[in-house]
Amino acid sequence: MSEPVTGYIHSTESFGSVDGPGIRFITFMQGCRMRCEFCHNPDTWKIGQKNAITSEELLKQALQYRPFWGAKGGVTVSGGEPLLQVDFLIDFFKRCKAEGVHTTLDSCGMPFTYEEPFFSKFEELLKYTDLILLDIKHIDAEQHKRLTGWTNENILELGRYLSKVDQPVWVRHVLVPERSDYDEYLYRLNDYVKTLKNVKKFEVLPYHKLGVYKWKTLGIKYPLEGIEPPTPERVENAHKILHTADYTGYLDM
Ligand code: SF4
Repeated sequence: MSEPVTGYIHSTESFGSVDGPGIRFITFMQGCRMRCEFCHNPDTWKIGQKNAITSEELLKQALQYRPFWGAKGGVTVSGGEPLLQVDFLIDFFKRCKAEGVHTTLDSCGMPFTYEEPFFSKFEELLKYTDLILLDIKHIDAEQHKRLTGWTNENILELGRYLSKVDQPVWVRHVLVPERSDYDEYLYRLNDYVKTLKNVKKFEVLPYHKLGVYKWKTLGIKYPLEGIEPPTPERVENAHKILHTADYTGYLDM
């Protein structure tokens, strides 16, 4: 193995159970260029000089929890946006695979581009990535920009690329009243996702307010003030329009 690569992490969670199959060791990376109005981790946005760790050291920490992973678990790298530290990710996942550890990347897709040097690195990363959790924040380009500060064109292209190379993906969509929770947008999202051949699970994540205190702590005005989580009826409606129950490939993972 070559020299370990250093990355900047925000924190880790030893027993994650929602970010990929089974029980997982989750690493939240520092850095994100999107500014989602509902972000519950705004404290991960900046890549700083604190919490530097090598891929080797992170793997050592993760492997302490291996006895709890069972047949399905493993590691997930989330954020922030992990693809901003793609060199670290490649090295970390490569080391994980050498140990037979299942690897999952949780990404909003924002850094994706066919331009070099990113694209070759991304292709390299896929060699060591078992599963990608692809967060699609909004299907409409303009609305995506309003919600996140960034267009969705390269993100939707990433979804198509992952389908082309048959990379297993779970699509995740945060349902936000007054933003994404309109039938028109849900039908368009359904039209897009159903064209992808590699989606093993399709999750609707109801918007929640658990991270609002972090915005207050950071002294940033919370953009969704006054917007409440969607009602159970609207969540059910989204599941129906998106046919989420049809995406059962995850059961075999
Ligand atoms: S992509 Fe994730 S970390 Fe970045 S702003 Fe959006 S929710 Fe927050």
